[in-house]
Amino acid sequence: MLNSSTLETTLDWQDNASSPHKLWSRLSCVLFGHKVSNVAFAAFRGKERHCPCGVKYLAQHEETRVSHTVSCFVFGHYYVRIGSRADHNEYVCRYCGHPLLFSVDRDPYADRVCFKKKVRYLCNLFGHEVHHVTARHGVHEYACDCGHSFLKREAGRSAVKHPPVCLLAGHYLRFTERRNNYDEYLCRNCGHTFYFLVTK
Ligand SMILES: [Zn+2]
Ligand SMILES: [Zn+2]
Ligand SMILES: [Zn+2]
Ligand SMILES: [Zn+2]
Repeated sequence: MLNSSTLETTLDWQDNASSPHKLWSRLSCVLFGHKVSNVAFAAFRGKERHCPCGVKYLAQHEETRVSHTVSCFVFGHYYVRIGSRADHNEYVCRYCGHPLLFSVDRDPYADRVCFKKKVRYLCNLFGHEVHHVTARHGVHEYACDCGHSFLKREAGRSAVKHPPVCLLAGHYLRFTERRNNYDEYLCRNCGHTFYFLVTK
C-alpha cells in the first residue's frame, strides 16, 4: 500500500510539482528522511534513483538520509531469498531493503523462497548477540541468530545494539558495494545495511 502510492508518486511527480501531495512529500523527507522502496526501484527507468519527493538520491559518492518504511516497521518485513555467501543464506525485504543473514546450519527459513518476519522483540530491546560472518573492505560483518546483520569497524564484537538516534532520525546511508542485482548501503550510526535494487 505504502509502496504502490510511492510508485505512483514517483511516476507522476513531474506533472504535479507544486501539488499539496508533492509539498507534503517534500516536507516529510526533510523532517524524516527520504523514502525507499525496492518495488519502486524495480519499476524505475534510468540509472539515477529519485525519491518520490523529486530529489536525486543514493548516488555512490554521497550520503543519503532515509526514513523508516512504516509498513515494515508496523507489520514486519517481507523477505525474498537472494542467494548465499560466507556459509550464510541471504534474504532481502522486497519493500525497504532490510537484509537477513542466517548461518546455513541454523536457518529456520531454509526451505522458504519468501516469508514475512518482524524484528525479534528481545533483540530490539536488549541488543543482538552476534557472530562473525566475514571481513570485507576493512569492516567486519556480523549476524545475530535472529538474522539481523551489521557492518562494524571493530573486530571481535559479540553484541550490537540499535542506537536510539536511528529510531528518531532514520538512517544515514553510504554506498559500500554492488553484489548481483543489489547496491549495498551502510548506516554510519548503527552499522545497519540496506540492499536496493540496481536501476537501469
Ligand atoms: Zn524524498
Ligand atoms: Zn522491510
Ligand atoms: Zn537479533
Ligand atoms: Zn542507522
